[in-house]
This record gives sequence, structure tokens and C-alpha cells, in this order.
Amino acid sequence: MNNKINNKINNKINNKINNKIGRNDKCHCNSNKKYKVCCLKNDDNIKNESIDKLDNGHLISSNNLKECYDCIIEIYKNYKIIDISNYLTNNTYETYQKKHYYGKVIMMAERNTINDEIFKTRGPENVNIIILFSGSYKCFNFDDFYVAFDMVIDMIKDRINNR
Ligand SMILES: [Zn+2]
Repeated sequence: MNNKINNKINNKINNKINNKIGRNDKCHCNSNKKYKVCCLKNDDNIKNESIDKLDNGHLISSNNLKECYDCIIEIYKNYKIIDISNYLTNNTYETYQKKHYYGKVIMMAERNTINDEIFKTRGPENVNIIILFSGSYKCFNFDDFYVAFDMVIDMIKDRINNR
């Protein structure tokens, strides 16, 4: 729930920033103060925080993902592998894919209440891991990881060759 609210606030602020409020314009919070002395600093912090989430994900959140990480980094040593389990939603999915479309960034997530909607629409009921790379994805159940791993590597290779 908190995340939903946060996303709403983030979107609102990003829209305002994209519409370019001048530093000397009236603040968007209706305080009647100039933007530069009111919400500017806080908006910048939130903006930087969302950029950081997009670039770095968060700390690897589970043993399962740590194992995925270890196997993938073996093959893609100079790639960055980020855990986005707690940020992946229908709203952020495209943003993540677009942001890292041409980069050397492999994204991974384990199913939880935040990202459940993504898993529901992308695989059978029992899938709990998703790997995203350059506009494509593979999802599987962690118990099948060593079978699914070949699929994941094929998907990554295919994307590298075709983009
Ligand atoms: Zn304000």
C-alpha cells in the first residue's frame, strides 16, 4: 500500500518537474512560497532517489536471488546485476526495461506482494523468479533454476545479438 502511495506521489512530482517549474515560480504545494525556498530540495531528493532505484535496484533480498546472481555473474562478468524485487510493478516495468535497454544491466526479482501483478501476467502460477534483460524476460520457479538457467542465458545472448 505504502508503495502505491509513494508511486503516486513520485509520479505527481515527476510530472511537475517535467513541466518545468521555474525556481522563482510559485511552489506546486500551494504554499504561496517560491519553489526554490519551498519544495525544490525535497523534490530533488525524491528525483535522485528514483534515479538511484533505477540504476542500482536495492540490496539482494534473498538467498534465491543471491544464487541467481552468482550463476549469472560467472558468465556475464562485466555486467551489472540488480535486484528490483521491491520496485517492480506494472508502472515501473517499462521504465526499467527502457532505462537498461542498451546497457549491461541484468535485472532480477523474486515474487512478493509488491511485484505479484507482474508475475501473474507473465507465467504459470508457480513462477517466483523473473530475469529481465534488454526488453525481454524469462520467469521460472526457483526449484527449476538449473534447468531454467540455460533459457535465461539463451535469452540474454539472443538480446545481445539482436539489439
Ligand atoms: Zn512547496
